[in-house]
Parts: sequence; structure tokens; C-alpha cells
Amino acid sequence: MHCPFCAETDTKVIDSRLVAEGDQVRRRRECLSCHERFTTYEIAELLMPRIIKSDGSRVPFDEHKLRAGMQKSLEKRPVSMEDIESALTHIKHNLQATGERELSSRVIGEQVMEQLRKLDKVAYVRFASVYRDFKDLDEFRAEIDRLQPEQDK
Ligand SMILES: [Zn+2]
Repeated sequence: MHCPFCAETDTKVIDSRLVAEGDQVRRRRECLSCHERFTTYEIAELLMPRIIKSDGSRVPFDEHKLRAGMQKSLEKRPVSMEDIESALTHIKHNLQATGERELSSRVIGEQVMEQLRKLDKVAYVRFASVYRDFKDLDEFRAEIDRLQPEQDK
């Protein structure tokens, strides 16, 4: 970290504390050359991308909301919390792996569908029917038919 006053690279950390609920580290530094003091805020590199909603507005990625949505689709289904958490971890990892700072909410929806499809077919169809907003019954049946060959495996 360069000193903002003289650009010297040798700085000493004189105080360090967690801020923003532990997501950031605030550091008080002192330049070893000019002895000016300054503050830096450091943040873990793997940030979740922001979500672009269909109306164009940007919202922070909301893990609680995502979990709640999946749990709702999985209500009364034989899927453990552990498997749901594991699916969530996969989704978050995939979103981070895109390297994008902003992602369309559609991308998240597709990720959720992919995970639910592996977890539980009924939950998948529940989620897909709400999410994709099937126009008519034929469209819905086509989706169910698409699932059939896999269930026979
Ligand atoms: Zn300096």
C-alpha cells in the first residue's frame, strides 16, 4: 500500500479492526518515510455480483432470500438442509466464477433451477412454474415431459 502523501511503499499498520459486520478490515497506517497517517479499508476479494432486476434496478445479492425461495420450493420434500446449503454454495461459487460485477436476475434463476433439478424434480417444477411463468398448460406439460427420461434412469 503506497503512502498517499509521498508514495513510499513501506507503511506500518498501527491499528486494525473489523467493520461492516466483519466484511471489511479498517487499518490505520503510518508511512515510514514521511510519518503521515492514513486509513485503508480492505475487503475480501470474492464479492458477490450485484443483481440486475428485470426493471433495470440493481440490488445486492441476497443469500437469505435465495435460501428462502429454494426452501419454499422444497417444502415437504425429502431433501436435507445440508443438501440445500450445498446447492447454495454451488450457486454462489458459479456466480462468483463468472467474474462479473453485475448479473441479471435471470442468471440466478437459471442457476437455482439447475440445482433444484438435481435435488428434487417436484421442487424443480414448482420453482420453474412460478419462475418461468408458464403461459399455458401445454408449456408446463412439455417441461414435465422433458423430465421423464431422466426419472427412468
Ligand atoms: Zn509518506
